[in-house]
Order: sequence, then structure tokens, then C-alpha cells
Amino acid sequence: MAEKAKVCKQCKTILETGSKCPNCGSDDTTDSYKGRIKIINPEKSSLAQSLKVIKKGNYALKTG
Ligand SMILES: [Zn+2]
Repeated sequence: MAEKAKVCKQCKTILETGSKCPNCGSDDTTDSYKGRIKIINPEKSSLAQSLKVIKKGNYALKTG
């Protein structure tokens, strides 16, 4: 079984490596999250906008 990824609590970026968010720089992370989405075109995605995502990447739908 793969090691569970951590998710930034601030912006919901899924951290593939390390424990510091590459998106917002926060180290406030959790491994308790639900859902996983890949956002490729954040400027065109209403889901990305609702999550306040501005960079492409992998995001959790819900944390905690
Ligand atoms: Zn973050």
C-alpha cells in the first residue's frame, strides 16, 4: 500500500513529497482528506475556482 499523501489545510494542495506546501508555503497539513482531483486548466475550471485554485496540480476536495 502506498504511503498516504499529506494535504495542505490552507489550499488543499496534495503534497506528493515533503511536508511543506509548494503552493502557499504552509506546513499546516493533514493526511485526513476525501477525494482527489487533478486540475489542469484552473482558469477554465469552475471547480478550481470554487476551491480557489490558481495553479494546476492535484487537490483534495475536502480535508479533516
Ligand atoms: Zn497550501
